[in-house]
Amino acid sequence: MEYALDPKHDPACIFCRIVRGEAPASIIAETAQAVAFMDVNQPTPGHVLVIPRDHHVYLYDLDAATATGVFGLTTEVAKAVKHSLQPDGLNLFQANEVAGQQEVWHLHVHIVARYTGDRDRIRFGWRTELPPRSELDHLAKTIRSAMPG
Ligand SMILES: [Zn+2]
Repeated sequence: MEYALDPKHDPACIFCRIVRGEAPASIIAETAQAVAFMDVNQPTPGHVLVIPRDHHVYLYDLDAATATGVFGLTTEVAKAVKHSLQPDGLNLFQANEVAGQQEVWHLHVHIVARYTGDRDRIRFGWRTELPPRSELDHLAKTIRSAMPG
C-alpha cells in the first residue's frame, strides 16, 4: 500500500481519521497542536499515543509550535500516567513505518508505562489484540482525571 506523503493531510491515514473523529479512539486530551489517545494494544496498561493534529511523518518536519505542542502534551500525559496508574517507570519512543514494522506513517510518540516484572511479559507475551473499547475508555478516563484543567 502506498501512502501519499502530503505533509498536511493524508485522507487514508488512520490517525488523521481519529483526529477528524471518523475512527474510534479513547481520547485523553486534545490541544490546538496535538491529540493524546489510546487505540493501540496495551502490552502494559497505560500505553498512550501522542500525535500532531496535522499529518507529519518526520520529527524534523514539525514547526516549532507543533513540536512544542506535541512534546508539551506528551509531558502532561506522562505525568498523569505516573500519578494515576503509578507505574514503576515510563518509556518513551517513536518510530515511523520502516523502523516500526507498522503501516501508520503519521508521526506518533508512544508513552509506555512500565511495571516491575514486565520484562518477560514485554519480551514474550506482548499482547497483540486490541482490548475492548470499554477498557481503553476506562484507562483514558483514569489518566485524564489526573491532568490539570
Ligand atoms: Zn495522518
